[in-house]
Amino acid sequence: MNTQTDNLKTNKLSNLKPGLKAIVYKIDGSSIFKKRILELGFIYGAEVKVIKRAPLRDPYEYEILGYRIALRKAEAENIYVLPHSAAKHLANNDFSKCKIHKQINNNNIDIANKKNINIALIGNPNTGKTTLFNHVSGSRNKVGNYAGVTIELSTGKYRHKNYTFNICDLPGIYALTDYSYEEQYVQKYLLEEEIDLVINITDASNLARNLYLTMQLASMNFNMVMALNMYDELESKHQTINCQKLSDLLDFPVVPTIADKGNGIEELFDTIILYLKKRNITSFSKHIDYGEEIEKSIESISNSIESSPIINKNYASRFLSIQLLEGDEYIINQLTKRSNNKDVTEIVQHEKDILENNINDDIEAYLINQRYTYIQNIVKQTVKNTKASSSAPKEIDKLLTHPIGGIIVFIFLIWLSFKATFTIGSYPMDWLDTGIGLLSVWIKNTMPPGPLTDLLTDGILGGVGGVIIFLPNILILFCCLSLMEDSGYMARAAFIMDKLMSKIGLHGKAFIPLIMGFGCNVPAIMASRTVENKKDRLKTMFMIPFMSCSARLPVYVLFIAAFFNQHQASILLAIYGTGILLAVGIGIFFNLSSMEMNKVPFIMELPPYRMPGLKNTTLNMWQKASQYLRKMGTTILLASIIIWAMGYFPQQTDYSKDYDKLITITNNNSTLHPEDKASIINDLELSKAEEHLEKSYIGQLGHFISPVLYPLGFDWKMGVSIITGMAAKEIVVGSMGILYQADLDADETSVSLIDKLKNRTYEKGPKSGQKIFTPLTAFSFMVFILLYFPCIAVIAALIKEAGWIRAIATAIFSTMAAWFISLYIYQIGSYFMG
Ligand code: GDP
Ligand code: MG
Repeated sequence: MNTQTDNLKTNKLSNLKPGLKAIVYKIDGSSIFKKRILELGFIYGAEVKVIKRAPLRDPYEYEILGYRIALRKAEAENIYVLPHSAAKHLANNDFSKCKIHKQINNNNIDIANKKNINIALIGNPNTGKTTLFNHVSGSRNKVGNYAGVTIELSTGKYRHKNYTFNICDLPGIYALTDYSYEEQYVQKYLLEEEIDLVINITDASNLARNLYLTMQLASMNFNMVMALNMYDELESKHQTINCQKLSDLLDFPVVPTIADKGNGIEELFDTIILYLKKRNITSFSKHIDYGEEIEKSIESISNSIESSPIINKNYASRFLSIQLLEGDEYIINQLTKRSNNKDVTEIVQHEKDILENNINDDIEAYLINQRYTYIQNIVKQTVKNTKASSSAPKEIDKLLTHPIGGIIVFIFLIWLSFKATFTIGSYPMDWLDTGIGLLSVWIKNTMPPGPLTDLLTDGILGGVGGVIIFLPNILILFCCLSLMEDSGYMARAAFIMDKLMSKIGLHGKAFIPLIMGFGCNVPAIMASRTVENKKDRLKTMFMIPFMSCSARLPVYVLFIAAFFNQHQASILLAIYGTGILLAVGIGIFFNLSSMEMNKVPFIMELPPYRMPGLKNTTLNMWQKASQYLRKMGTTILLASIIIWAMGYFPQQTDYSKDYDKLITITNNNSTLHPEDKASIINDLELSKAEEHLEKSYIGQLGHFISPVLYPLGFDWKMGVSIITGMAAKEIVVGSMGILYQADLDADETSVSLIDKLKNRTYEKGPKSGQKIFTPLTAFSFMVFILLYFPCIAVIAALIKEAGWIRAIATAIFSTMAAWFISLYIYQIGSYFMG
């Protein structure tokens, strides 16, 4: 490399102590690692600062280009650095003079007269794309302060000044490469869709790294406008950006925005309209000049591409040539898919051979270095410090990632969320419960007795009403998760947990989808796409169903409230813990079964701490609430009606007549004491209802499966609830509401399902007359509900993400695990409790 620095002593970045600064000298390691780490700014001559170590001693947090990133020790060992004092030797290091390359814009759509504009939002993760998208399209997509929140594209419309903008929110990416699922996804999108304009969203407070992607996009010749977002954060760092200058240098408009407040968004779209009006087919674009040798190679590859058009018009031949030189697998695959490309492949190889001789470095590294040199030049000319700012970590961060304090805080926060879910949630839950009970009584008193009244009270109010009362609990849990995500804490949790996750062969990154699983397993399974390596991704997906989702929460809330007066939050924690332990077990099992070392590096950006916006939190909660209510109105309503009907029919008159006869006889018996009479009649009514339910379709089904569940301490009604819960786990409580309702028809004073469960006794068999539910059965049942068959939606998501076989394997495995573990808990527990 540079002879001036050869006599300075190099060191490994991993050997540096927190607080020290150094200069990046050389990167070793696998080519994937090398490329990614270069793209993230670890280029020759860059200054890197060690911030701290994670509580469990790995990974490390570093600062580069003004942002924070986590690297494992094993990765940092591949980065060679020079002492910080070497910086002055590098000052006149001359990489490339930044010339401007002009090329005719080949995006030849007549854009000036178009009124329907297709826009793609492209930018780094966590720059505010979804926030901007939600603001203009009125959508309510999920926003979170860490990378990988947006996984599928979503589209929305925005009308502004006679124009209709069809906007597409895409996952965030650091560069246009083939490194991760998201990057391939975005490349494919840019390749195949019709795009009139790209809004490149950048984080103004982190311009240098963001511009890397910008430079790549620019070489694609899209019509482009930059939204310089998070301008407020830039200002709070006492910096300003000269937007006019930046726009001149980049050759497309730049508009400062603050997406979460909606500032600058009108201006952004005004600018887009003006820009498009001026655009025509012969516009010129500026490009980085990579120096004579590279430019010559780019040109000859470009020529060969143009002479045999191989890829969609969207891709400028210059961009393709550069990607081919960098060995981008995705583009190469696209190329080899089409015929007539032998020439191109040969020419690329030929040019690569020439370059490797001439530039003395590998081509990828060289190109990335060139881009960053160009970028640093732009940053130098446009970003101004108004006041020296310190980069000392905040006090709060010190606590949150403290060796001992960090872990305590983490467990405490999760526990606190559960505690809030119960304690605060119990008030609105009681109000709803009482309200529904009163409504049910009122309906029974005003409507004539008959199937319709029964359907309304026992079927719909019992089923849907029984589930709806848990809405407040779910909202509180979501509020807590949302606050943790939005404040940036979740990324720190991943940072803290990385060491533990590495024990099961996973990244700290996989921790986030796992935690998301507590909300709902379906998005969590989709979010596991952020885990780059396929094997790790599958492993994460297998683990997610054991993360207890919020649909299972009603079962726990119900049973814990009924059977555990003390230690409620701890019991809940124990249930969640059981799921987590099993997930960890699966992780370890997978690890042992495959000896192959994990090759994908652990690289994770640590976003700055942000004050969680009230708007985002309420939006997330509102979205969850409306989702929940929609599910109530559809799946759960339908399931409630079906379950009720299966319990109501067939109407058999023979035995009910017998009961009626007995009741009449008792009534007419004048020798009985009135109190005894009432009690006997009550018993008869109960037995009648019970027998009816048992002989109904659902009773037959329940009895059919009850032999399997009897060893676990469950009666046939619980069996029915378990079966119906396969559609969605909320239905478990709904079914119980319907099934147990029948018992106490005569006793209108007790409407609460909790009381009904408490008083429920075995009807037949050796335990006849004994209470079914003890704290032990309750616990064993909760564990069963936690573990068995994840709902249909999860299986559908698994089929989509991992294939049929794996999805079915998950379903079978989880149900078996549920059975064995519940059996174990119940049998061992019974033994000790006598
Ligand atoms: P995406 O990953 O690019 O889709 O980013 P998101 O839209 O999910 O936003 C990431 C985080 O940045 C969220 O916590 C937002 O609330 C926050 N955010 C978005 N825009 C701004 C902004 O202009 N200023 C500040 N301070 N925060 C913002
Ligand atoms: Mg997003």
